[in-house]
Amino acid sequence: MNNKTYIFATGNMNKVKEVNQLLSDIDIVLPQVFGITEEIPETGDTLTANALEKARYVFERTGKACFSEDTGLEVSALDGAPGVYTARYAGDQKDPVDNMEKLISELSDHSDRSAQFRTIIALIESDGNEHLFEGICHGSIAAKRSGKKGFGYDPVFIPEGFDLTFAQLSQDVKNTLSHRAQAISKLLDFFRT
Ligand code: IMP
Repeated sequence: MNNKTYIFATGNMNKVKEVNQLLSDIDIVLPQVFGITEEIPETGDTLTANALEKARYVFERTGKACFSEDTGLEVSALDGAPGVYTARYAGDQKDPVDNMEKLISELSDHSDRSAQFRTIIALIESDGNEHLFEGICHGSIAAKRSGKKGFGYDPVFIPEGFDLTFAQLSQDVKNTLSHRAQAISKLLDFFRT
């Protein structure tokens, strides 16, 4: 197992908490430790472009091994929207309740409520080599918000094989099947080989 320290190029503490649980054998530090306190830009029009942009931003300023992740919610009846615009679906305030209410309203006339969370992790090793890892969690969008756990769209996302939203299920259950868990598992496989 690789025992290096990696910078996790994010300012999202919910992601840091989940990734720390999933990567318990790896030491993670945050960009602030290297003086990067500003919001890391994500201006791409794909999840991959955003993940690479965030990781490169930190690598160019530190020269240290780092990784980032970008996640989108892709809804079948909305042709894959909100996708890369998931965070600001209902506006630049990036408010999770506004986002979920907009999604519920957009789907009110649709019988197909299938959706998937997709995560792309971009890893940059200390020699500058870049690697991408993808994780997908299939599920559906609930008719209303339920549950208080997790973050973001968790109160409206029902993972396949369950009747409850991510926000109603335990963090341990989310960590066994989520998009992020699957991408992290591929990252761990890469470290092991
Ligand atoms: P980003 O990857 O930080 O750009 O996040 C995109 C959007 O997806 C934000 O609105 C997040 O709150 C949301 N999001 C990311 N991961 C999850 C998750 O695991 N559950 C629910 N919402 C998420």
